Amino acid sequence: MLVNGLPPYDPGNVFARILRGEIPCKRVREDAFALAFHDINPQAPVHVLVIPKGAYVSSADFTATASEAEIAGFWRLVGQVAQELGLEAGGYRILSNMGVDAGQEVPHFHVHIFGGRGLGRMVLRAEA
Ligand code: 5GP
Repeated sequence: MLVNGLPPYDPGNVFARILRGEIPCKRVREDAFALAFHDINPQAPVHVLVIPKGAYVSSADFTATASEAEIAGFWRLVGQVAQELGLEAGGYRILSNMGVDAGQEVPHFHVHIFGGRGLGRMVLRAEA
């Protein structure tokens, strides 16, 4: 069965394992609601992932079912991390892949924070 276009939450996914401490990560910041850590395969000089501590498959799942405290706590940490990493002066991009068309690989909601250089186009141009 699909929930918001994705299978139900799989507690064996790699980010759930990072949250349980079964896989190491390069942590940037953590609080009761969320964890921020460097992406293992960075696509920009700064490439950090922020994940909620709760079990949410996707952006759609998180925004539909997380509590207001979780949603506020999560986004506050995103802002704190960008500020802490010194990205505010030059700017940065926040991105979340949701489902198949966006190419979401890890089925635990996350946002990417990219920065440290000009980031180019927002999305691939459609093929003619
Ligand atoms: P998605 O395509 O789902 O939006 O992005 C998943 C991201 O997770 C990718 O950028 C990938 O490099 C990152 N990633 C996958 N496995 C690991 C891991 O074990 N550790 C870390 N730090 N990042 C990971």
